[in-house]
Amino acid sequence: MHSDTVKTRFAPSPTGHIHLGNARTALFNLLLAHHHDGVFLLRMEDTDLERSREEFIHSIQVDLRWLGLNWQEGEGEGGANGPYRQSRRSAIYQEYYVRLEQAGLVYPCFCTPQELAVSRKARLNAGQPPRYSGKCARLSPDEREKRLEQGINPTLRFRVPKGRTVEFDDLVRGLQCFKTDDIGDFIIRRADGTPAFFFTNAVDDALMKVSHVVRGEDHLTNTPRQLLLLEALNLPQPQYAHISMITGSDSSPLSKRHGSLSVASLREAGFLSGAIINFLGRMGHYYGHDEFLELQQLAEQFDVGRLSRAPAAYDDARLLYWQREAVSHADSAELWSWAGADVHAIVPESEAETFVNAVRDNVQMPEDVLNWAQIIYQDGLELNHEEIAIVQGADGDFFRHALGALVLHGTDFKALASEVKQRSAVKGKALFMPLRVALTGQQHGPEMGRILPLIGIERARQRFEKWVSTD
Ligand code: GLU
Repeated sequence: MHSDTVKTRFAPSPTGHIHLGNARTALFNLLLAHHHDGVFLLRMEDTDLERSREEFIHSIQVDLRWLGLNWQEGEGEGGANGPYRQSRRSAIYQEYYVRLEQAGLVYPCFCTPQELAVSRKARLNAGQPPRYSGKCARLSPDEREKRLEQGINPTLRFRVPKGRTVEFDDLVRGLQCFKTDDIGDFIIRRADGTPAFFFTNAVDDALMKVSHVVRGEDHLTNTPRQLLLLEALNLPQPQYAHISMITGSDSSPLSKRHGSLSVASLREAGFLSGAIINFLGRMGHYYGHDEFLELQQLAEQFDVGRLSRAPAAYDDARLLYWQREAVSHADSAELWSWAGADVHAIVPESEAETFVNAVRDNVQMPEDVLNWAQIIYQDGLELNHEEIAIVQGADGDFFRHALGALVLHGTDFKALASEVKQRSAVKGKALFMPLRVALTGQQHGPEMGRILPLIGIERARQRFEKWVSTD
């Protein structure tokens, strides 16, 4: 494979937000291209004018960029093979329809949807493949003329050659063979004049010089049709890699509960893009380890041969694992902006970096960061019974010693704790737990050495004073 020849693409239909399934397809295409120093292209397949919306053309780009899946050619970026929205390529498609017409490889079909449904059912009942019967292929020029005069808008069908086998070597699934006799003549232009998927998708891949197509297994049976079209048009054929579908952990098809979660909703819930990328990169591709990787490293270690044929199971626990990894790998500026406005309103900006680095190992979502910001910076810690029992269980003079140690050592926790240890003669858990609970209201949390300076002398004093026994 020559590095300069690899071009992949993501070709969404802008009829909704991208969900995890689409994002994974985009990711694998990008990784394959980047692995070979190639080009990743973005094309909008907006031929369904009813359902395609400008809003989604926009949101798809926002989501891809947020994930870091930048494209080098296509919608919003330009390039030599545009336009990159199919709705703007009618003149190009027209040219290729004419070529097929001139070669006698297409014919108008006047069958109504009802007629097609009846004939499909009859074929199924007779145990035959439910393909188009070819009825309109046999119309005489006169019969065609008559129907056109009746004002029926025909679809345009591609004449599938008889008695052949279409073969291709799928990069994931190996050699694939399809008998053309099982494939009915298919529609490449709808009755309303809009071009059909099989046609635009194949023609555009060829004209945009796409070398590799990574897409869902649900497209596998479309591929022989598209290869036949490309052959008829004498256009180059890309290599295909049909990846397995994502299923729920209970192996049900992907649903709202699992991976049809939109990228936007995960972002709003507080997931970091690095978590999603690492999670998706492992879903159906084997890396052999669970180290957090940046996009470029995912690309370096990507190998088409490691794409799995088995369905990829969606697993919430894995997503959370990668979220924790992403939080621990994010730089402090990224964590600070991820923490959000509520945190920014509490934590002084001059302490931003120290704060996020102090809490990063104890947070998974921005709400956890907010919780620590409140604990560290706000008055009025609320302790539950268990925690109250811990501070009350400390030796009578314990917090008096703690106050003395604070005056002496300020917010140097190590020095403070050893001073208390000396004065009160308690050690280990009996020493550290009451200090932690009095200062944070929690039994677990970030290293005290990192957060005591943020709590500050004044708040620490109040928190110790509260538990000084007066009896
Ligand atoms: N627009 C098609 C889809 O979203 C593209 C399929 C393909 O990748 O070829 O399913």
